[in-house]
Amino acid sequence: MPALKIKVEGKGNGIRTKLLNLFEVSRSLGVPPEYPLRYFGAEFGAIIEFKQSEQKAMLNGSVRGEDLKNSLDHFIEKFVLCPKCKYPEISIRIKKNELYSDCKACGEFRKMDMSHKICNFILKSPPPGATKVTPAKKTEPVITKPKSSGKKKSKALTLKNPEIVECLEILTSEPELARAGEILTNLTVSKDYEADIKAYLMFKGIFNNNLIVHMSNPIGIQILKNVANGFPEDFLISFACVYGNDEAWKSKISTVMFHFYNNDLLTEEVFDNWIKDDLEFNEASPVYNEQALNWIKTNASEFLEWLKNAEEEEEEAKEEEVIKEVEEVKIEEIKAEKPKTEEKDLESNLKVTENKVVVEESRCIKIEDNGKVSESNAKDLMSQLNNVEDFDIDDI
Ligand SMILES: [Zn+2]
Repeated sequence: MPALKIKVEGKGNGIRTKLLNLFEVSRSLGVPPEYPLRYFGAEFGAIIEFKQSEQKAMLNGSVRGEDLKNSLDHFIEKFVLCPKCKYPEISIRIKKNELYSDCKACGEFRKMDMSHKICNFILKSPPPGATKVTPAKKTEPVITKPKSSGKKKSKALTLKNPEIVECLEILTSEPELARAGEILTNLTVSKDYEADIKAYLMFKGIFNNNLIVHMSNPIGIQILKNVANGFPEDFLISFACVYGNDEAWKSKISTVMFHFYNNDLLTEEVFDNWIKDDLEFNEASPVYNEQALNWIKTNASEFLEWLKNAEEEEEEAKEEEVIKEVEEVKIEEIKAEKPKTEEKDLESNLKVTENKVVVEESRCIKIEDNGKVSESNAKDLMSQLNNVEDFDIDDI
């Protein structure tokens, strides 16, 4: 953990203690920065100022660094370290409106001391996944889903699962895109969310109706990329689950697909395989909806058609390239087949091998060893060199 850095600013009533790197410190402790800040506020009876978007945290009044350090130690003792094994491995859980510490290291699941003021704040603004009340080591996790794509519908997990609903609420209520992305990333830590659920939470909780707007933002693209990466099928079924069968989106599907393609979220290969019905969708996933997926595909037809044509044009361009290469090889061959005697003649006449010959459009500038520049018509010079009739300068 980095040392907490502070700066006292202002005079008289305007004096404030800025916590310069509280966000960094909190990240390393695995707690939202508002927790230690509110803890300090309560300990020192100071009004706090907190701006998530600007990563600013400060306390009104002047607080000594030494006092803050001691207070931070107490906070860590209470909310970060396991009461049993003392490792900083606890996750805060909420059960029946009370806080519990759930230790990832030793499995200890213990009710927390609720006497501190910030406990109420934590109850109101819990860390992601806090209502997952069952300790992972002792019982089965709430969300269970087979890794393999079994054909049977998994009854253990539906989109009405309380944890999914809660995560959605957290994401929906976060107005800041970057922060929402961070919350989504942190959900990976619990490892209970597989790519399909994460993609669903992302589309439904972060992007929803603002998908196209957020796709013009690099942060939005990054969030999409993190989720799509390696899981194109999950990305597609989740997309279909959220936007499929929605008339309001019907005319936008092709545009969205183009953005997915253009930003390398879904590759040409993925689309090709989708067209050929060669993608392996996880039909056991709670986000899988065959009808919605077909609806998306139908409404993506404009894009899919465009992609097909673009591919064909590219193929043609490649073929043209090959033809051009063949022509060039022919010219090379003609050059190579030049009679030896003539080459000797040329060498003695033009000193081509020793001089630099610069061909510019239809002119040819020859720089002699002695620095003299001579100019001649390229066509004349090249026809002498190659002994090729009807020489075309464009083929050089
Ligand atoms: Zn422990």
